[in-house]
Amino acid sequence: AVADIGVTGLAVMGSNLARNLARNGYTVALHNRSWSKTAALLEAHGSDGEFVASESVADFVASLKRPRTVLIMVKAGAATDAVIEELTQHLEPGDIIVDGGNAHFPDTIRREKDLSARGFHFVGTGVSGGEEGALNGPAIMPGGTREAYDTLGPMLEKISAHVDGVPCCTYIGPDGAGHYVKMVHNGIEYADMQLIAEAYDLLRTALGLSAAEIGEIFADWNTGDLESYLIEITATVLAHTDAETGKAFVDVVADQAEQKGTGRWTVQSALDLGVPITGIAEATFARALSGSVPQREAARAADLAAATAGWDVPDRDAFIEDVRRALYASKVVAYSQGFDQIAAASAEHGWDVDRGACARIWRGGCIIRARFLNRITEAYERDANLPLLIADEYFASAVSNGVESWRRVVSQAALNGVPVPAFASSLAYYDGVRAEHLPAALIQAQRDFFGAHTYHRVDKDGVFHTEWSADRSETQQS
Ligand code: NDP
Repeated sequence: AVADIGVTGLAVMGSNLARNLARNGYTVALHNRSWSKTAALLEAHGSDGEFVASESVADFVASLKRPRTVLIMVKAGAATDAVIEELTQHLEPGDIIVDGGNAHFPDTIRREKDLSARGFHFVGTGVSGGEEGALNGPAIMPGGTREAYDTLGPMLEKISAHVDGVPCCTYIGPDGAGHYVKMVHNGIEYADMQLIAEAYDLLRTALGLSAAEIGEIFADWNTGDLESYLIEITATVLAHTDAETGKAFVDVVADQAEQKGTGRWTVQSALDLGVPITGIAEATFARALSGSVPQREAARAADLAAATAGWDVPDRDAFIEDVRRALYASKVVAYSQGFDQIAAASAEHGWDVDRGACARIWRGGCIIRARFLNRITEAYERDANLPLLIADEYFASAVSNGVESWRRVVSQAALNGVPVPAFASSLAYYDGVRAEHLPAALIQAQRDFFGAHTYHRVDKDGVFHTEWSADRSETQQS
């Protein structure tokens, strides 16, 4: 037994992680259900480092040093269960099974419970950064036991991206914590992308700029607070011309955004927890709306009235700055909501997730890597139990500075029929969360009216009910 770690599942993610491990000096055992992928990896990249390839699971496991560590990179779902089951026939208690696929966190919780009862360590880990990240350094979010992390962590930290010498990998928490944090990362990614798309749409519609001109604006924005991978690639995509038609590339791509499910999972979990993640939810629904082809055709056929006002943009540069500020403020709200969700799930499951550490490991390798994540880490370093990210001193002033721009952008968008669901819902959240009085009082009164659901009063303690159908007298409930 010579291998430090084994990788089973050698499609694009598995083979790139295996190569990354080998390039970092680890001896890597290789296995894939069908031999062809293993052979292809050895053929093309066998010289990247030390590999020990096996056709059978038994030989694969036998090639591993104890405690054996196996990284599973197969299709999420039933395939993962099948591979785990087969591996456990050959592994021993104390060995570490790592699932680096995009598992849904309840599956990870279930698998961890089952495997820990059988003496194995099970680590469900989020891996972000796509195939390039897997090869050159992803952000890695492992959940599981501390004991497993002691063995596995140093390897994962070494192959992860590094920012300022700090690895983009840290222990997240027990059982499903790692996959949960990765899921919310993806949800935030949805919100970030939707906000960028709305900013682009506004600039295009209001100012009549070409895609390439807007690309230049994004390139400029990428030198300031908004500096991030997503802003950078937006500039590149907008500058790209379709070779076949000579048109802007973005104009030849069909306007229907697809999704694989992590945004939906994030919203479903937020609904279960009762956490308002309006930015992520609107972003997920905006993709769904874009793909609602029969509904969009029916709406267009019905020639629904636009009743738009016409743009009033006396100062082009001021408008661009308004959009930039609105984008930054909305982005801060989306992240604030995502971190709220992580805190709520952490409390619900007893994970004790360090939100500042999550922001720190998202600075590199992953899709939402961005300069401003440092600010989030700093905010949670100032107060680990911060109840609301936008209440932190830096973010409070960042959002407050943008609020006039935000209102101008959202109202102009509404007047001109440009859908900005993520901008508008983030602003509504901002106004809702900072409001001294919410109309929820009326809702609670209605609930008491039709369902005797009771209410609290602002002026005294206790639970009350009004006899609506009788004399409207008030009774104090237990
Ligand atoms: P795929 O999700 O396309 O999965 C293909 C791999 O799964 C192949 O190695 C295949 O083996 C194996 N497999 C499928 N079914 C079974 C089964 N029943 N038993 C054993 N092996 C099986 O590969 P990717 O590399 O794209 O992704 C791997 C994992 O990483 C997935 O969970 C994915 O969600 C996740 N992920 C992907 C990212 C990406 O950017 N692609 C980013 C982050 C995570 P065979 O060759 O024999 O068919």
